[in-house]
Amino acid sequence: MDVLDRAPVLGAPWAPSMRSLPDGDAELAGVSLMEIVRRFGTPTYVLDEAEVRRRCRAYRAALPNSDIMYAAKAFLCRAMASWVRSEGLGLDVCSGGELALALATGFPAARIVFHGNAKTPRELREAVDAGVGRIVIDNLAEINHLAALVPAGRRQKVLVRVIPDIEAGAYAAIRTGGEDQKFGLSMANGSAAEAVHRVLDQRGLELAGLHCHLGSQISEVEPYELAARTMVEQLARIRDTRGVALPELDLGGGHGIAYLHDERGLDLERFGATVRATVEERAAGLGLPVPRLIIEPGRAISGPAGVSLYRVIAIKRGVRRTFVAVDGGMSDHPRTSLYGARYATTMIGRLSTAGPRAVTVVGHHCESGDTIAEDAVLPADIRPGDVLAVAATGAYHHSMASTYNLTCRPPVVAVTGGQARVVVRREDQDDLMRRDVGL
Ligand SMILES: *Cc1c(COP(=O)(O)O)cnc(C)c1O
Repeated sequence: MDVLDRAPVLGAPWAPSMRSLPDGDAELAGVSLMEIVRRFGTPTYVLDEAEVRRRCRAYRAALPNSDIMYAAKAFLCRAMASWVRSEGLGLDVCSGGELALALATGFPAARIVFHGNAKTPRELREAVDAGVGRIVIDNLAEINHLAALVPAGRRQKVLVRVIPDIEAGAYAAIRTGGEDQKFGLSMANGSAAEAVHRVLDQRGLELAGLHCHLGSQISEVEPYELAARTMVEQLARIRDTRGVALPELDLGGGHGIAYLHDERGLDLERFGATVRATVEERAAGLGLPVPRLIIEPGRAISGPAGVSLYRVIAIKRGVRRTFVAVDGGMSDHPRTSLYGARYATTMIGRLSTAGPRAVTVVGHHCESGDTIAEDAVLPADIRPGDVLAVAATGAYHHSMASTYNLTCRPPVVAVTGGQARVVVRREDQDDLMRRDVGL
């Protein structure tokens, strides 16, 4: 067989701009990944800016007359904030830090939604002072607290986050739509209704609508259809008990993406059409004005646009399997050790005529669960010095990275139109040392 036939076969879950090159290298948005390794080192996150933008546009096209608020926790840096803003998206933030970064880029506060199940008094004050567009109420205690922070003569728009009691999402750790978890207010025990009444009784607060978020990595449309129906019915109950038709309905995010070759993400067009039709029909049936939809995708905007690059350090044959150890791990790739998330990997940088071998790609951290891919298939002659790419790491990687073992967090390199630039620089040991103020 010609060696060229052995060049990595790309396609989903790799970003559409990822192509294999004849010498075994691969390119993303026209930039050689081996060139990125040479210029910026490993481990490194690479992010295809055009792919992020394309995904923003796809959301706007699938959901016209809606507000798309990118969930910043998936990945945020100044460049990212500026890309989503210029594509017409708003921002969903859930900490004072995310809010501060967004504001530092000049992101319009009115286009920001502030979330959190335990917002501190300081975070609430910062959100009110900044003039964020919506604050999402997630517990009863914060209602009075928030109202007291709003200056006389102003009204702060809020949404109340309710638990729709729908179980969806790929792992228990990321399911947030059911009763037995910490987010939102229960409809079953009356907390959600109590929150709605209390907000409506506060002069400083304006109840704009209801919010729910089912969980994450959901690839079926049906849970959203069910949520849309349930939530419109809740809006009708509020209209019936309090005589107000709330104008907004925020259905959260959680849209699944492909991490493996045989996986499919959420069908965005079907999602948009189904959810809009469901909301319109149910509202019509209940005699309600159709609420404006708010959608908060995070993973589905940035995830598929990212690739992680690692250098292989060691190969070890165990009794049951072969370990390929790289120069990163759970500190920059946390989801596998957290809840067993699976990833596609490929070797880049040289051609191999060796057959495939099933291996476990592990990191360099001091935990036996420090895994990047449990069941990778790599060339049998993989050796130290080779470079591995991991697909779909644009969301919940950099943002969840830690400095465990005092390792430095990788940089984020943006690629677009054949050009690469660092948008978040590599952390260095001075950064780590600076916080340690000594004896
Ligand atoms: C995490 C989160 C999102 C985004 O979730 P994705 O799975 O990244 O789309 C949106 N809204 C809320 C309230 C969230 O907590």
